[in-house]
Amino acid sequence: MSDDDRSTRHSVLTTARRAAALVNVLADDRPDPGEVAAVLLEYGEAGPVELGPEEVAGMRTAAALLREVFAAVTADEAAAVLNRLLREHTGPFRLTSHGGTAPWHAHVDRDDDAPWAEWLLASSCLALAVLVWDRQRPPGRACASGSCRNVFVSQGSGPERRYCSRRCATRERVAAHRGRHSGGGTQDPA
Ligand SMILES: [Zn+2]
Repeated sequence: MSDDDRSTRHSVLTTARRAAALVNVLADDRPDPGEVAAVLLEYGEAGPVELGPEEVAGMRTAAALLREVFAAVTADEAAAVLNRLLREHTGPFRLTSHGGTAPWHAHVDRDDDAPWAEWLLASSCLALAVLVWDRQRPPGRACASGSCRNVFVSQGSGPERRYCSRRCATRERVAAHRGRHSGGGTQDPA
């Protein structure tokens, strides 16, 4: 990782996007530890990352709690969920540079060497809370496709997208189009 990458590695938005990516990869009943590790590496974690089944199980529990934040439809709902998670699962706010190896950034886990599950919940709650603070809207959404369980971080302003990906948006548009032309209905594809 270059020095340029280090400045963005711990940004709030990157941390929130990492949270969404981990919630998605951990949605499986039995998440593949290799896939979870790949997401961590993709978002700048220094390798090698080796996760055991118990660590992944703990992260999966944390991801299920975080999913509630992404499911919130209003800023009020998101704030209420985040306040509960911060109260029940995180320690006090502190700054760390991991002994000078990273830019100064905030943590609310109990220790720099906290278990992965605690780290996931704490770092995600912190970033998502800052997004609510900054934007005054929910920090993310669940994909509007009935056949997709993905969550994503929403845009900061402007009209909100409804689907996690272009793939989901296209699939739903095609399905709505077919429905309109076969049944003569008047569903709104938007
Ligand atoms: Zn989707």
